[in-house]
Amino acid sequence: MPDTPPTLPDWSRTLRDVADFPRPGIHFKDITPLLADAAALRAAVAALAAPWRNAGVQAVLGVEARGFILGAALALELGAGFVPLRKPGKLPGATLVQDYALEYGSDRIEVCAGAVAAGTRTLLVDDVLATGGTLAAALLLARQLEVDVLGAAVLVELQALGGRRRWPDGLPLLATLVY
Ligand code: AMP
Repeated sequence: MPDTPPTLPDWSRTLRDVADFPRPGIHFKDITPLLADAAALRAAVAALAAPWRNAGVQAVLGVEARGFILGAALALELGAGFVPLRKPGKLPGATLVQDYALEYGSDRIEVCAGAVAAGTRTLLVDDVLATGGTLAAALLLARQLEVDVLGAAVLVELQALGGRRRWPDGLPLLATLVY
């Protein structure tokens, strides 16, 4: 008897698998069709927010670029503010900087120094957890801000890439869908 496949929410059908993008060998999970579908977007954001509704989140920190879209919606759902963690050179004034390795290359993220007060109760968010380098860098950047990180929320975890191993034990990292 084959194992019963896990029941996936309806909105998960709007995620698109794209082979060999942006480089050969990368299996890309595209959230663009989900964003374009009003019912799917609402359901996905509600699912992302559900575990955090009573956590007292004051600010959502979202990683450029798809983490902005989901993060801003999540912040509204949770009654929190939103802080963008941006690619280099996009933010005015003094910034804090964190370098990191990607599944396909390396990158750097920045945040405005003093974007939120030290001790602010924050939640990190991104669309996809792949190798985990981005979220680990976001955590280090949040620690530079001296905020209180309650955990992280991702819409999709690509389990085979082992990103969770780069996240500290004991700090919640909640994925809405795991593939
Ligand atoms: P990683 O640092 O490897 O966990 O990569 C996560 C970041 O890169 C997220 O911001 C994703 O948007 C993007 N990303 C990496 N790999 C993929 C993938 N296979 N499908 C979709 N997005 C990905």
